[in-house]
Amino acid sequence: MTTALLSVSDKTGILDLASALHARGVKLLSTGGTARLLADAGLPVTEVAEVTGFPEMLDGRVKTLHPRIHGGLLARRDVPAHMAALAEHGIGTIDLLVINLYPFAQATARPDCTLEDAIENIDIGGPAMLRAAAKNWADVGVVIDPTDYPQVLAELDAGGLSRATKFSLARKVYAHTAAYDGMITNYLSALEPGAEERPAAVPQRAAYPSVYNLQLVKTQDMRYGENPHQSAAFYRELKPAAGTLAQWVQLQGKELSFNNIADADAAWECVKTFDEPACVIVKHANPCGVAVGKSAVEAYLKALKTDPTSAYGGILALNRPLDAEVVAAINAAKQFVEVALAPAVTPEAREMLAAKPNLRLLEVPLAPGGNAMDFKRVGGGLLLQSADSKNVAPAELKVVTTLQPTPQQMADLLFAWKVAKFVKSNAIVFCGGGMTLGVGAGQMSRIDSARIARIKAGHADLSLTGSAVASDAFFPFRDGLDVVIDEGASCVIQPGGSMRDAEVIAAANERGVAMVFTGTRHFRH
Ligand code: 5GP
Repeated sequence: MTTALLSVSDKTGILDLASALHARGVKLLSTGGTARLLADAGLPVTEVAEVTGFPEMLDGRVKTLHPRIHGGLLARRDVPAHMAALAEHGIGTIDLLVINLYPFAQATARPDCTLEDAIENIDIGGPAMLRAAAKNWADVGVVIDPTDYPQVLAELDAGGLSRATKFSLARKVYAHTAAYDGMITNYLSALEPGAEERPAAVPQRAAYPSVYNLQLVKTQDMRYGENPHQSAAFYRELKPAAGTLAQWVQLQGKELSFNNIADADAAWECVKTFDEPACVIVKHANPCGVAVGKSAVEAYLKALKTDPTSAYGGILALNRPLDAEVVAAINAAKQFVEVALAPAVTPEAREMLAAKPNLRLLEVPLAPGGNAMDFKRVGGGLLLQSADSKNVAPAELKVVTTLQPTPQQMADLLFAWKVAKFVKSNAIVFCGGGMTLGVGAGQMSRIDSARIARIKAGHADLSLTGSAVASDAFFPFRDGLDVVIDEGASCVIQPGGSMRDAEVIAAANERGVAMVFTGTRHFRH
């Protein structure tokens, strides 16, 4: 018979699982609180204390730390000496372990949490059992994530957990215990000096982002990194935030490369900020065409128009299903697409795209949300920050010129502002009619970004007369503004906040353009 040990702090769903296990003839072992819950529900359960012959002690600090438990978890079933040792000491095997740990994160998030509360919320026996079971993964299934319950039950019905499932469950465990210990380290290191002497609640730094909270599992080795001489892999979060790229399902095409994933992410982050049908084409992490339209195909055709040269070999993202019309338009334009991603791909589109076996086609669930944190590797360290998830609210917009933007201009300005957030700094983006007309990205001076945006619009034969322009940060001098007005801009959106705002506003008034301040800067490096 299979024996399962259930020991959970968060008891959600545990009764259902325990009943399902019992119904399949699994013998249930459990720690105090969990055992009581199961017994109250009428399930036969053996307390761990009964197995070890020791009561739980020291306020629960010692419950399962005993050879009768750890022997049952760690014994290799294929090593006769291990099994003989179990028999000699009357120890039974434990084949399934279901655990969730003391809620350290929740406890320390409370404003009245004292250091002692925090310390008491450090789980000792739970991680020890998890690590033991995961080490012995070939013989023990170890479950920390309730979303794995159904699969575990299904496989038990089919005769037992497969090796692949047991291995993948074990991998999750080490990511989980590493993150758990990391969280403790992070909490202790963020305390104010002298906290160890203070019995009262310990002040916490607000929203301190923690790299330890990341639970990553390597899902893909890559042929190479950004360049062929670099090695690379993709690490996926155990629980990627809703709306993030990492939940992709690849429907066809070659394996995704390092640059494909980075660029697909840039495209996805941008396209998902639009409510109306939108298309974003990205090259080298910058959008080279962004547009909205009444349909996916209209958005695509407009986005392509911005810079058809750069779009060749680009990454194409839609926030609507990729349908046959879009594929027909891609084919008619002879655009070579490296990666296409959308919340869904219609069956007709899939059939048509099958003729391009190299095109990597991804479905990514569209949902509000995104990463909470952002990282940048520097020599000998890591910069962490909260993600730039700010979207300007209408109440924050301030018209600073005598000329007010018309409703159409305001719509164009807000479109341009959304795009500018996803263009590397310095960013200058000319827009009009729901599409980008010229994108100036990644220059060391704002005025050069403006010049490049103009050149790009010229190459695509797009007129900038009457266009709306967004600048990701303030104009330090009027010269950058003069360049965009010379090209035909009729309205401008920018954060404001320069020492020379007065000079820049006067220039806008003098030249008869409307200007809106957002109060928010969107540097992107
Ligand atoms: P219960 O509510 O069943 O009494 O306790 C369940 C919790 O105890 C689980 O979160 C589990 O990880 C934890 N746990 C199990 N064994 C031990 C132990 O020996 N020491 C400590 N500190 N926690 C344990």
